[in-house]
Amino acid sequence: MYCKYCGTQISDDVDFCSVCGKRLKNGEAHNTLYRHELTRIKPAKEIRNPKAAAAIGFFMSWIFLGPVGYIYLGQWNWFWLTFIIQIFAYPLTAFFAYPLLPIVYGIHQYQMAKDVNELIAAEPGRKSAGNGGAPMDKPFERPGA
Ligand SMILES: [Zn+2]
Repeated sequence: MYCKYCGTQISDDVDFCSVCGKRLKNGEAHNTLYRHELTRIKPAKEIRNPKAAAAIGFFMSWIFLGPVGYIYLGQWNWFWLTFIIQIFAYPLTAFFAYPLLPIVYGIHQYQMAKDVNELIAAEPGRKSAGNGGAPMDKPFERPGA
């Protein structure tokens, strides 16, 4: 399988990536979607709310701006990728994609927010005890935002 954080090929039965040290939940690293440089999840600055991410993706998609949810998650590569893809997806599917994409963006951005948060939690020196009082340390579940 491939580590979804750094893309390194690693053995199937490990819990941690031997190269970047990130924690790999069972089965999750089997997802080869994040293997390539273009689609790799970039580290976000703060914990993101999965429900907020899903809501942005779902509602913005009705005005063709579903990829904005990826900006919220700090994933500009995913924003541009999906933005370009949907330019073709709408006409090529005779707008069949229109009612479909809100659901796709909602589900994917919800899952990606969880992955982004996991990446932050796995970063050494963050969220761990006594690190000189990190200024960006915030509660996990923030209302709104
Ligand atoms: Zn790795």
